[in-house]
Amino acid sequence: VKADLLIHSAAELVTATGPGPCCGPAQSELRVIRDGAVAVVGENIAAVGTSAQLWSLVGANTKLVDAKGQVVMPGFVDAHTHLVFAGSRETEFERRIRGDSYLQLMAAGGGIMSTVRATRAASLDDLVMQSKRRADVMVAHGTTTAEVKTGYGLDTAVELRMLQAVARLGSCTPLELVPTFLGAHAVPTEHASARDTYVSLVVDEMLPVVIAPATGVAAPRFCDVFCEEGAFSVAESRRVLEAARRLGLGLKVHADEFGPSGGAELAADVGALSADHLAYCTPGGMSRLAKAGVMAVLLPGTTFGLGQQHYADGRALISAGVAVALGTDLNPGTCWCESMPFIVALACRYNGLTPAEAIVAATLNAAHAVGLGERLGSLEPGRQADLVVLNLPTHQHLAYRFGTNPVCSVIKRGIVVVGS
Ligand SMILES: [Zn+2]
Repeated sequence: VKADLLIHSAAELVTATGPGPCCGPAQSELRVIRDGAVAVVGENIAAVGTSAQLWSLVGANTKLVDAKGQVVMPGFVDAHTHLVFAGSRETEFERRIRGDSYLQLMAAGGGIMSTVRATRAASLDDLVMQSKRRADVMVAHGTTTAEVKTGYGLDTAVELRMLQAVARLGSCTPLELVPTFLGAHAVPTEHASARDTYVSLVVDEMLPVVIAPATGVAAPRFCDVFCEEGAFSVAESRRVLEAARRLGLGLKVHADEFGPSGGAELAADVGALSADHLAYCTPGGMSRLAKAGVMAVLLPGTTFGLGQQHYADGRALISAGVAVALGTDLNPGTCWCESMPFIVALACRYNGLTPAEAIVAATLNAAHAVGLGERLGSLEPGRQADLVVLNLPTHQHLAYRFGTNPVCSVIKRGIVVVGS
């Protein structure tokens, strides 16, 4: 069989190797093929090797992509985003620079609730249009798959509208989306005096409705909870997660973002797939994650976006045996960043990851963190042909440089969607 597409002449063809998720020393194991090539048949990778080895797969109808001595690697998987939202919060950003904390802004009715008001007021078309602009920027920066959360509706109708927006977005961008239900993102203003009523609404009304959606509404694969002081307590979070687990959803936790919230321990207790943020995760929390096989999704863009210095200790997590993944946490309050290359650069400086570890974290481990590690995140025969060509001489340059976009081509399911 001849290839439909051959990407050839890569200075380095770089990939994690499965099955993964990779933890401990395996987190830094990259396969690097010089003068590398990838042959694609249909949507999938048929062969990986040197350009000379794969040249026999070129036929009359094979499309050729010359990587011109640059880096070829798997498309980025962004393991944690709040891509769907309406409006923006640049005034809050200014207030924060002047000294207001995130939790103070939230208590003053700003923070998440201001995005909830904007999202509730937006029509479906508007929500899709605003989110599509960001999705296009993500693809231009090499992201081929992204997790996307609800959590700006905080009532059943608008949470469903967000899932409808996810379905529409999935059909109008090349970005593959993995939806997560985050009804427990914040207690909305109308329930502020009766928190239990809101948690009951999430458990008894929203969860059963979102897991059996109507046509045109994306079905969530995961349930997430914001377990933090000012958001949901460990007990409230546990109630939501256990209900979601009974309904068959995978679990995620926003854990230990602003303080040791008990979120990591909770994630281990309930058997979550991932605990995300972990800036204040304790050594005890890390060993609980390792023992329970919970992945860590680090979001250094958020710490950077808040102008804070307390980054998650990725080095300690890897030493503890936790598989580390990366995400942007793209959201309008703390981190409006679509760029996984920038997140890789931050992870190497502030989370203590090496370039190789960060690349595994942003590809194969991130794919596992969104439940798609069997199909995505590495360049191996039989996997989906999602890859990027980067205008860089070696993979270390991906972390070494920052602030510009190194992506020159993006291929999703065997189709060139950026570049040529
Ligand atoms: Zn988040």
